[in-house]
Amino acid sequence: MQFNSDYVMTIDGKSVQSTSTFESFNPATGEVIARVPDASKAQLDEAVAAARAAFPKWSSAPQAERRRVLEAMAEALERHAEDFMNLLTKEQGKPRAGAEWEVLGSAYWIREISKQSLDAEILEDTPERRVVTKYTPIGVVGAITPWNFPILLAVWKIAPALVTGNCIVVKPSPYTPLCTLKLGELWRDIIPAGVFNVITGGDELGKWMTAHPDINKIAFTGHTDTGKAVMRSAAGTLKRITLELGGNDPAIVLPDVDPKKVAPQLFWAAFQNNAQFCNATKRLYVHNDVYEETLKELVAYARTVKVGDGSQADTQLGPIQNRPQYEKVLEYIQDCRRNGYRFALGGDIDARKRDWFIPITLIDNPPEDSRVVQEEPFGPILPVLRWQDEADVVTRANDTRYGLGASVWGRDLDAVQRIADRLDAGTVWVNEIHKYAPGQAFGGHKESGIGCENSLHGLVEYTNWKTITLNKKSMSAEQDKAA
Ligand code: NAD
Repeated sequence: MQFNSDYVMTIDGKSVQSTSTFESFNPATGEVIARVPDASKAQLDEAVAAARAAFPKWSSAPQAERRRVLEAMAEALERHAEDFMNLLTKEQGKPRAGAEWEVLGSAYWIREISKQSLDAEILEDTPERRVVTKYTPIGVVGAITPWNFPILLAVWKIAPALVTGNCIVVKPSPYTPLCTLKLGELWRDIIPAGVFNVITGGDELGKWMTAHPDINKIAFTGHTDTGKAVMRSAAGTLKRITLELGGNDPAIVLPDVDPKKVAPQLFWAAFQNNAQFCNATKRLYVHNDVYEETLKELVAYARTVKVGDGSQADTQLGPIQNRPQYEKVLEYIQDCRRNGYRFALGGDIDARKRDWFIPITLIDNPPEDSRVVQEEPFGPILPVLRWQDEADVVTRANDTRYGLGASVWGRDLDAVQRIADRLDAGTVWVNEIHKYAPGQAFGGHKESGIGCENSLHGLVEYTNWKTITLNKKSMSAEQDKAA
């Protein structure tokens, strides 16, 4: 299998090209690294038709058989882990450690999700009646993914969809299509034809999927505004939806922390994946008593972090993944400058330069209603904010349309627990961050999403409930005699 060329779609178990293509870039160099198929509407129809045709056999196979397929998928991914890590760094920009976490984590996830199952619930089983609720697959799932974790976020949809007996059509972000196309090729001989299809194209292709009459569910990860468009469009055919959307995660730091010790943890909470992370800490609330010292330690630690091309061994943070995102992050920096906020670090950008790197930027206590605090920059600019009163900081942390994640940092375990209980978010980490697990539900409150991924709660989202009630007596010969 070639990883540097032959980027083709997978439809009905076959390799498929398209008449038009679009370019894919290496964000560290700005070079075009591939031309990628731009699927037509007819090709989407073919992929959906293939998935629909494969559904009866796949959905009625014993789960043990589907599990074996998923195990083989995980094994194949591990066998080619090195190739996927290199390609991921090349198309996404993330350094080696992040690529390793994502690729090996994806293989682990597939294996763990393959072990999950939803048992039928027997509600009544008497000589007279039997009532059972089963979980049945929905049909054809359309998966739409973003560019920050292209492999992992696809796997979070593919694994539960397939293990529950659905067929799937996956569309990666046009900014990071290559690894997903290669997953299609990798698994072509492992997954029965039509069960797993990969097609590539722009946002338009995503819109066609959400409106497609033969797709029964959309599993979407991306921006909150796009999620709303997905929901509107999916309403036309009442598709099931799972929406994993944006976040503006607060971190609350208590006065009893050791600033030097906590600073590196807070740094990575905010800047992992170059802050292009739905769950990145995007507002850092530090108690007044330790504010100056923590900010000083953060700046000192940030200065040690190497930003550069992810393919170089010592790089810790890569580039911004794409040019529009780079422009967006730049706007936040300019907004902070225009408003006279103090830069504790970074913010020096020559607007004429053509690369996609942004220096680590820390803003010292900007106003609560500033754009950098209220919105989701999705890049390496972090507002550090002071707090004094516990009730006030909880109100500020919750005062957002988002509710994806949050974290609390402190030695006083009663205080951190009290604060964690009052934060309105799908996941609250305490004295640690970004710990996910296949058995742990992940999803957002408020405008951060609908539904969840992972755990049995996430698995249920790939099923319909079906209740069968059986009256064992009403048709029996004794009943006839009695009548
Ligand atoms: P995006 O919403 O621009 O794009 C995501 C995907 O949707 C892409 O594949 C895109 O082509 C497609 N798309 C765009 N318009 C569409 C439409 N109208 N209908 C259907 N599909 C459409 O998001 P992005 O810029 O790729 O990713 C960044 C965003 O994703 C951030 O807001 C981030 O917080 C969020 N995100 C959330 C999670 C989570 O799990 N909650 C994880 C990662 C990223």
